[in-house]
Amino acid sequence: MTLITNHMPTAELQALDAAHHMHPFTHGHDLERKGARVITRASGVTLTDSEGNEILDAMAGLWCVNIGYGRHELAEAAARQMRELPYYNTFFQTTHVPAIALADKLAELTPYDLNHVFYAGSGSEANDTNIRLVRTYWEQKGKPSKKVIISRKNAYHGSSVGSASLGGMSAMHAQGGLPIPDVHHINQPHWYAEGGDMTPEEFGLARARELEEAIHQIGEDRVAAFIGEPVQGAGGVIVPPSTYWPEIQRICDKYEILLIADEVICGFGRTGQWFASESYGIRPHIMTIAKGLSSGYAPIGGSLVCDEVAEVMNECDFAHGYTYSGHPVSCAVALENLRILQEEGIVERAGRETAPYLKEKWETLADHPLVGEAKIAGLMGSIALTPHKASRAKFAAEAGTAGFICREECFANNLVMRHVGDRMVISPPLIISKPEIDTLIERAGIALDNAYKRIKDEGLLVAAS
Ligand SMILES: *Cc1c(COP(=O)(O)O)cnc(C)c1O
Repeated sequence: MTLITNHMPTAELQALDAAHHMHPFTHGHDLERKGARVITRASGVTLTDSEGNEILDAMAGLWCVNIGYGRHELAEAAARQMRELPYYNTFFQTTHVPAIALADKLAELTPYDLNHVFYAGSGSEANDTNIRLVRTYWEQKGKPSKKVIISRKNAYHGSSVGSASLGGMSAMHAQGGLPIPDVHHINQPHWYAEGGDMTPEEFGLARARELEEAIHQIGEDRVAAFIGEPVQGAGGVIVPPSTYWPEIQRICDKYEILLIADEVICGFGRTGQWFASESYGIRPHIMTIAKGLSSGYAPIGGSLVCDEVAEVMNECDFAHGYTYSGHPVSCAVALENLRILQEEGIVERAGRETAPYLKEKWETLADHPLVGEAKIAGLMGSIALTPHKASRAKFAAEAGTAGFICREECFANNLVMRHVGDRMVISPPLIISKPEIDTLIERAGIALDNAYKRIKDEGLLVAAS
């Protein structure tokens, strides 16, 4: 076997990568032609690639490196735990200190009475847990017909069979026989794309009331739960109108419906608060967590469960769990991450200083001729690309064509910004500084200028009819 190191020529690494590594959400042959960018190191908000480029990571990896790269304390915590107890399970009347300590910490940090955690290895696994958990809860309560989970189109809840079924990504449902039965999708509160002539407030109410209509249509006796991301992330950073969540909450309260807030992205400071549920007026029975829980330094996720639901579940033997539920190394890393976020006041500073500064700068991008709107919630933001600002028009070209061009121009400018269709999204580490925000905005502006020129030159600046 070849010894593969960071010092190999990039082209060789890319060839080996293409030969043996199947990438997520990637067209393999396309990637082989272009060659993957090889990331070798990172510190703070900056990535370094195999060519020595220094790249501003405005996505915090995949929305997860909230604390920033290069915090050695987390490496120490992992090493310490690996030496002491690298692995043990929590299945058969056993437990360990990292799982206990993290559960206790989570109960302290989370709002309301979300005092119980069921650990998973990822957000997808945690949402799979939620599907089985809410259905088992209703069985325990003598209402086994309550099985249907209502979700939204263009939601993202993970990539496993269960969680991708909960999600509303049509491209994912098109492959592999999804969704599983008894998942129902209503429309999303995406005013910019779907709001027509309504005000955002009217539209938010109308979209929330689709939940009530769905409950009537399916039957209250068949609906187990509603799941939603407080702010949709992978769907394009869709910030809901202010009227949306209070109405969803009212409907879940009125009918016997469990409310699951998927805070995998929003949790742990992303929206400028510890949890977005607090700021959006959501009182969930269950909260999904992952990503920022460990700032991505180790894989871990979980379902936070309220007292009442935990009480009912504790009456039965829930035949569910993962080998790595409560993995001691991941728990130790998450604990250290939370300790630093708390002790250094990172979430509070992000909410009080960084988010308002970023908002002010980000919203200036709305003046660009290619941009239809700029939205932001804490440290997650999006801009909509459009060929015609006034009418919020879509491009005539296939969705994602303009977004892809813009992402390429970002990449060429040492900025990682992702595109979701023709929306550009950011979610930088919470520790990003004001000068780094200035750099982000400057590079985004250049990328938009270059993208605008290319889109025009390629004859793509045409509105869909
Ligand atoms: C990323 C994500 C998930 C899935 O988490 P994984 O760790 O990738 O399995 C679930 N829900 C939301 C809202 C996410 O953004």
